[in-house]
Amino acid sequence: MKISHIEHIGIAVKSLDEAIPYYEGVLGMKCYSVEEVADQKVKTAFFKVGDTKIELLESTDPEGPIGKFIEKKGQGIHHLAFAVDNVDAALEEVAEKGVTLIDKTSRKGAEGLNIGFLHPKATLGVLTELCAE
Ligand code: ZN
Repeated sequence: MKISHIEHIGIAVKSLDEAIPYYEGVLGMKCYSVEEVADQKVKTAFFKVGDTKIELLESTDPEGPIGKFIEKKGQGIHHLAFAVDNVDAALEEVAEKGVTLIDKTSRKGAEGLNIGFLHPKATLGVLTELCAE
């Protein structure tokens, strides 16, 4: 597997309406897309920082993954996403190296990317996403 760059950093927020003005007004970034990902029970907002994006994640359901994360840990960094050539090949490779996967095969995430998550218990506490176009 070859990681080319950090594709995005996922950040859990209670409210996009509250968070977007901070990223735009204080940090001077521009939100270029807001998208709901129904099967993940989130609304996302994207900003570009060089080759890397910031993905803000607001829960649309307290029982969803981001709702539960915020209840347990509060707002903050949720996951790191690395860009790879081929998500399925990369997932297979890390599984062969003994890493537990959340996604055994890739699925569609925000922005139409193919994504797959590794289990944070197998990645030293960092929820890790692999993604590719
Ligand atoms: Zn992500």
